[in-house]
Amino acid sequence: MENKKENFSEWYNEIITLAELSDKRYPVKGMNVWLPYGWKIMSLIDSIVRRAVDKRNFQEVNFPILIGRSMLEVEFEHIRGFENEIYWVTKGGKEKLEEELALRPTSESAMYPMFSLWIRSHADLPLKIYQIVSVYRYETKHTRSFIRIREIHFFEAHTAHATYEDAEAQMEQYKEIWREISGQLCLPYFYDQRPDWDKFPGAMYTIAFDTVLPSGRSLQIGTIHQYGTNFSKNYDIKYLKEDGTFDYAHQTTYGMSERLLAAIIGIHGDDKGLVLPPDVAPIQVIIIPIPGAGVMEYARDVENTLNSINIRVKVDDRENYTPGYKFNDWEMRGVPLRIEIGEREVKNRTITMSMRNIQGKVTIERSKIIYEVPDMLIKIREKMMENAQKVFRDHVFRATKLEEFNREGLITAFWCGSKECSDRIEAETEKSALGFMVDSRETGKCVVCGKDGKMAVFSRSY
Ligand SMILES: [Zn+2]
Repeated sequence: MENKKENFSEWYNEIITLAELSDKRYPVKGMNVWLPYGWKIMSLIDSIVRRAVDKRNFQEVNFPILIGRSMLEVEFEHIRGFENEIYWVTKGGKEKLEEELALRPTSESAMYPMFSLWIRSHADLPLKIYQIVSVYRYETKHTRSFIRIREIHFFEAHTAHATYEDAEAQMEQYKEIWREISGQLCLPYFYDQRPDWDKFPGAMYTIAFDTVLPSGRSLQIGTIHQYGTNFSKNYDIKYLKEDGTFDYAHQTTYGMSERLLAAIIGIHGDDKGLVLPPDVAPIQVIIIPIPGAGVMEYARDVENTLNSINIRVKVDDRENYTPGYKFNDWEMRGVPLRIEIGEREVKNRTITMSMRNIQGKVTIERSKIIYEVPDMLIKIREKMMENAQKVFRDHVFRATKLEEFNREGLITAFWCGSKECSDRIEAETEKSALGFMVDSRETGKCVVCGKDGKMAVFSRSY
């Protein structure tokens, strides 16, 4: 396998193929085939996302993939932001369509005409919905699995509220949702408010969750957007207030994609392969029998016990492979916990465990596995988060002058917010402004022009 530190990009591509996450040989460019193991991980990520939003009263919907041109053109900035990326359907069978239909690049223009029908009075608010669907963007840059693709596995939440304050409270709730999700996926991040020229087309402002891959380049893994009444005014989403007058709804959105999987692969993997957070591992515990008397029966029995407490467990009963081959194979696929069972374990009524991300083996009594195994999975997750945070910190550098921007990673520095200064930084260092750090209250002089500035983050990004 490629060396992760020295050849991150090659390593990343190789592990996706070896671990059978995705098949890049599909003949349509930018559209990869999800293989069972990769799709299972993505589905587990989706269920974490679903759980986090469902319990906060979001409801799942499923909108059509096709959007009429006239629906898209309602919000001018929005369509202008996407016009170079849209796939158009122009024919139905042999007939030319009267109105061209877009494959959704995102679903504002599909949903908001319906919002305008659904929302009548203040009693209909807040409206909080989401969907997890494919969206399509005609990407012209070099494509890369799970990072830059043309068919995107997309989570999009859309809300409508009575007041701007309610919409702002929703923005805060998104952060809470993200904290919960990122904790389970063990992903460190910064919140950055994107500069105006880089915000979502049609939004008042955009906050991104940015992480950093071991290549030193940043990866945007989620965004939340405050729309104010920009869309509701154009799509006529208004409601009757208690005092009998009408007002436009205030809206927000939250978007994420399979970049979450890209971040998991890139941040946690090592030279042996994937390392999966237990919450998204299709197999959390792999049991490897070392051939001997009574071993298979004992292994099945341990499997049943773990199954009964909802642990995703499997006995590797393949006959044509040695235990050593199986150890490597499951390590490469990132299984968090391995249990070895041989004649000694059968005789002593024990099991021997090894963790994917922590050195050494532990032997425990068979009768204690229903307590010890779940504990071990939590320990693995905590250790993964700890390691990931260390790597993240190692890739963040504070700069007080332009010459200090040359290190591989995220650079934090004071910035006045002007495009001019950002362009100058980009021209000299290839790093551009991700935005102001939302959680920093520090102020100081802009690293380029010396005017008053706030703490910002810069990087080369994917
Ligand atoms: Zn400046």
